[in-house]
Amino acid sequence: MKNKIRLFIFFLFLISNHNSLIAQENNMKEKILSSYGFVHGEKVFNAIDDLIVHLKSGEIKENMIYGKEKSFSLNQINSISKSIEYYNTDTSEIELKLLNAFPFPNNRYKLQFSLTDKKDIENPLKMIFEIMAHANDNSIQFSSILDYHTSFWRTKKYGHVTYYYREKINEDRAQSFAQKNVMLATRFKKEPVALNFYMVENYQEILPLLGYVYDESSIGKIRDGLGVLENVIFSVMNNEDFSHDLFHFYANTVHEKATSNWVAHEGLAYSWGNAYYTNINNGEMADQKELVEELKQYLEKNPDTDLLELFENNFWKPKDDIYTHLAPDFKAGRLIASILCDAIYKKHGMEGVHQLIASGRSPNHFDPFYEIIDDLLGITKKNFHKKVKKLIDNY
Ligand SMILES: [Zn+2]
Repeated sequence: MKNKIRLFIFFLFLISNHNSLIAQENNMKEKILSSYGFVHGEKVFNAIDDLIVHLKSGEIKENMIYGKEKSFSLNQINSISKSIEYYNTDTSEIELKLLNAFPFPNNRYKLQFSLTDKKDIENPLKMIFEIMAHANDNSIQFSSILDYHTSFWRTKKYGHVTYYYREKINEDRAQSFAQKNVMLATRFKKEPVALNFYMVENYQEILPLLGYVYDESSIGKIRDGLGVLENVIFSVMNNEDFSHDLFHFYANTVHEKATSNWVAHEGLAYSWGNAYYTNINNGEMADQKELVEELKQYLEKNPDTDLLELFENNFWKPKDDIYTHLAPDFKAGRLIASILCDAIYKKHGMEGVHQLIASGRSPNHFDPFYEIIDDLLGITKKNFHKKVKKLIDNY
């Protein structure tokens, strides 16, 4: 009997606890609905309920998206949906809910959501994110928050590239990037794309521009940029040159990304673009010329270095003592790949380059690359060191 009473009391506790949560939510909803300027009332809440369902299922429909930059917003809200999927694991119990909503001029409402994992007792909060809602006579649609954050930024156009920045811009770098955009497009026989380029100090600054007020999985990530996302780029450490990833972008317009050879991709991106990351001493992008020079000096001091070994072992991860005084991210293996790609381009033009990229990734990224450089340059694993050393010496 005692046990039954205990169970009954526990049951009462559960009901009252649950009810207090609902009461809290209703309270929040009432506060929002009664706030000044919240003129579209329940309609906004119905649309939010619908949005939450779609964010969870990953099925964001184009008719839910507002504005002229539709494809960017669709991509952006889809990527929030993918982040929700990332946190939704076998061991998690995620909860997605509206935290706040408030009105802005032109029938806009800024929506803030939280994503928590109820099973993660220590760190339940996974994300806080924002999406803009736009109300019109018939419906509520949604967009990325980017425009809201950057509409007052300065803009300047170089070639096909529109830069968005807050204080100043490095004209030389901007001009050089605009030229590289044309060069890369020309090599791949494409029209140069129009790009919107946002200048930011670091990766953490990109996140709130895209609506991620907080994202647990991005903590500690600093040195990366982001793009090309539907023709939008966010700078790497406030540098105007994003040509490394722009190479990947153009190559992917011609070749299937999922099956392209990544040794070729990185080699060409290092050569035709840059090494993606900035030099920690001066904020400049490291280019191939500078990295070749450093490698030459290293080889002089370490004459026993085997270039084949360096190529294979330092493609995915950096080797400590070659480039770390410049930055933690430059990889000697990719630089060697860039030298081989240059030799192919010089001898066989774009035909050779296409062959390299299309060589695939089976059984790994290296084997098909070796096959092509054997075919086109006569470089084998046996003569690799000698021949590559000769190529390096000619820079
Ligand atoms: Zn890359």
